[in-house]
Amino acid sequence: MAIIKKITSKAVFMGRLSHGGDLLEEITAICIQENIRLGRVEALGAVQQARLGFYDQQAREYRFMVLEQPLEITKLIGNVSYKDNKPFVHAHITLADKEGHAFGGHLAPGTLIFACEVILEAYDGPFFQREMDETTGLPLWAISE
Ligand code: ZN
Repeated sequence: MAIIKKITSKAVFMGRLSHGGDLLEEITAICIQENIRLGRVEALGAVQQARLGFYDQQAREYRFMVLEQPLEITKLIGNVSYKDNKPFVHAHITLADKEGHAFGGHLAPGTLIFACEVILEAYDGPFFQREMDETTGLPLWAISE
C-alpha cells in the first residue's frame, strides 16, 4: 500500500561542489551542515569517474560498477531523509560518455566530481526514517506524523 504525506517547501539551496570531491559525500555534507532532514536534490555537471549500484532483487544486495572515465552528469535526482538518525541522501544518476552513450544507476560513494552544479530543496513535513523492509531487503521509509 502506498504511503503518502503532504510536505511543504522550506528553503532552496543552490551552488557548486568541489573539484575532486566525492559526489554523494559532498551532497550529504551540505544536508548535515544546513540541517536538511527532508528534501530533494538535483544536479548536473561532470565526473572524473563513477561508481554505480544496481540492486539485485533476487540476491537482495547491490552490485557495484566502476566507470573509470570522464562522464557528463546528464541527470542526478534524489531525496533526503533520515537513516541511522542522520541525513541520508538517496540519489540516482544518468551519465553520458563522449559518444553520448548513457549509463545509469544508484549513486554510490566513489563517484568523483569534475564539476557539479547542485540544487537542494529542504522540506517541512513528517519524519521520514529509513528502516529495513522485509519484502525488498531495502531500507525503505517508515513515516511518522
Ligand atoms: Zn537507489
